[in-house]
Amino acid sequence: MEGGRYRWPKPDSIPEKASGMRARVSILVSMSLDFAECDRARLARDPVYDGRFYTGVHTTGIYCRPICPVHPARSANVSFFPSAAAAEAAGFRPCLRCRPETAPFCSAWIGSRATVERALRLIVEDGALDVEGSTVEHLAARLGVGARQLARLFARYLQASPSKVARTARVQRAKRLIDETSLPMTEIAMQAGFGSLRRFNAVFAEVYGRPPTEIRRTRRSTGKEVKAVDNAGNQKSLTLSR
Ligand SMILES: [Zn+2]
Repeated sequence: MEGGRYRWPKPDSIPEKASGMRARVSILVSMSLDFAECDRARLARDPVYDGRFYTGVHTTGIYCRPICPVHPARSANVSFFPSAAAAEAAGFRPCLRCRPETAPFCSAWIGSRATVERALRLIVEDGALDVEGSTVEHLAARLGVGARQLARLFARYLQASPSKVARTARVQRAKRLIDETSLPMTEIAMQAGFGSLRRFNAVFAEVYGRPPTEIRRTRRSTGKEVKAVDNAGNQKSLTLSR
């Protein structure tokens, strides 16, 4: 990735700063304010922002919700992303403490971009891209837009393609099932929308950097609160002995 700080159009539901005039440079100004605004939100662990952006921490390679209980990283070491899929595409792994897969579904900030919101709901809630033979073209047609236009909207508002968003949604469903049920992994793979256990194992390991069985073991050995696990998923005793 281009080592940069990711910025995206200002969320509609974040109140504009009180200012009567819109200067010509307002786009530049508000874009740079976005970083500051996100940074303030994460340092304050402001729950209002939960689900609206994710923080990638360059020193750990982990991405978090704004409300993460782990001691916040220095501002110089973070980037912000408008979706979990974008954070993953940039190489960050989900935090095991704040559990991005449990963030509230939040697309209100997309505002007038009803197409993006409808597409997101179809992908995340209905698994519209999980069914055998489903395509982005077909999804776009359901929404009355072209596949290219849908891809452009996703790139602009979520910084991730529809298929990347669908992949993240599948992994998140699986992670919740791992944490909240005792279902066998094959069943989890199917319920989460992966066509096969092999595919599930491969994608999960890619996203979390460890197999799903290890996540379940860690959770079981430390109890539901996972107090002894830091946000990279290392048990503290292991971290200390290194
Ligand atoms: Zn976290």
